[in-house]
Amino acid sequence: MEKQSLNSTNVEHQVWEKLSEEAWMSQSNARVLGTTKVGAAVVSEEGRIFSGCNIEHKFRSHDIHAEVSAISSLVSGGCKSLSAILVVAERQQFTPCGSCMDWIFELGGPECVVGYQNQKGGHVKKFLARNLMPHYPI
Ligand SMILES: [Zn+2]
Repeated sequence: MEKQSLNSTNVEHQVWEKLSEEAWMSQSNARVLGTTKVGAAVVSEEGRIFSGCNIEHKFRSHDIHAEVSAISSLVSGGCKSLSAILVVAERQQFTPCGSCMDWIFELGGPECVVGYQNQKGGHVKKFLARNLMPHYPI
């Protein structure tokens, strides 16, 4: 039997279910001026879950992305790092933008699992942050 390491790639199935539930709940609260409501949920190293949604502003440079919203909640909730983030939106293809990836690397590191789900109960595509941005300077 293969030895299981305790790194963040072993986030359990139930955790992904909970992340999904929280992310879709936040997604429904998104404030959008565009067309895509996005939700995100993160799990801290201690196993606590926080969520967020996109909050768009008429001055679009002020837009807050769902990933940053969830990470902000994690930090203001007293946690320092994340093991995984799930992003949800009703879009076929999706990836966190470069700015959100900066935050994911900053608090989650290259091994942080980044999941994406495009419908409730749908398949969660999972990647490691380092696979989404293989040349990221660490
Ligand atoms: Zn972003």
